[in-house]
Amino acid sequence: MGGTKLLAGAVDTDLYVHRRAQRSVSGLDQSALLDVVVDAVQEARASAGAEIEAVGFGIPALIDQRTGRAVISVHLPLAGLPFGDVMAERLGLPVFVDNDANVAALAEHRAGAARGCSEAVVLTIGTGIGGGLILGGELYRGASGAGAELGHVVIDMDGPRCHGNCPNRGCLEALASGSALAREALRIARERHNSALGRALAGGGELAGPLVTELAHDGDPAALEAIELVGTRLGVGIANFVNIFNPEVVVIGGGVIGAGELLLRPARVEMRRRALPPSRDEVRIVAAHFGVEAGMVGAASLAFDGLARRARVA
Ligand SMILES: [Zn+2]
Repeated sequence: MGGTKLLAGAVDTDLYVHRRAQRSVSGLDQSALLDVVVDAVQEARASAGAEIEAVGFGIPALIDQRTGRAVISVHLPLAGLPFGDVMAERLGLPVFVDNDANVAALAEHRAGAARGCSEAVVLTIGTGIGGGLILGGELYRGASGAGAELGHVVIDMDGPRCHGNCPNRGCLEALASGSALAREALRIARERHNSALGRALAGGGELAGPLVTELAHDGDPAALEAIELVGTRLGVGIANFVNIFNPEVVVIGGGVIGAGELLLRPARVEMRRRALPPSRDEVRIVAAHFGVEAGMVGAASLAFDGLARRARVA
């Protein structure tokens, strides 16, 4: 589930997706939202052609793993709800729930760009920046499940205010997210009227990530400058993660990775300028394997892990 839509799928143990169902979840109250979720799962289930054993969810909320309750949910009316218990009762199946960024990290670890790695950092960069950590081959969740909010590492003590529930300023999310890219693109467009970016602004275009990325791929220096700035800031944040975790790989996903090497190249350069050896020389910074289906595939991994854990306990 994302802040505006959900994708459901019937996924096998090889993480191959057989059937998909999509729904809009924008602007729904809690009861309508839960109905839509159940309906999408039932559609995928009915068309699966095989028995469904469990349901995994990646939801845009901070989950307290001790109680299963969504503690904070900025985009959807889920706060305070024991989402897993409610869904298990409505669906009549075992249900496993985690944060959307955590399940995206699971997908990359099990079948994507961090496959086979023991230590990996996964950043999902869209409107905000979600973080997931694989440590010792396992998803790291912290003491209560609130762990790995990597987007809220500070890269500028006096930087701009962060969003949502974050009281901080100068967070990586405030400076290197898709929203930050749009903000920088707007600033640069106003300064450079003759650039393609400036002309897009004059023509009434919305300087969101996809347009900036397209203009940068076409070689517009102003659009390139905006992406390079965000990539450089990303590199500052990544240097922190490299020093702390000594990961084999840092995986960058989410909409902003549409910029590809235009974003990753300055991030690598900046990380190498700032991080300590030998970690900085060993780590790879790469694009995610999964796009919009990262959450769905990761949620399936979560469910298979959960079933295996229950079988061991039993
Ligand atoms: Zn923050």
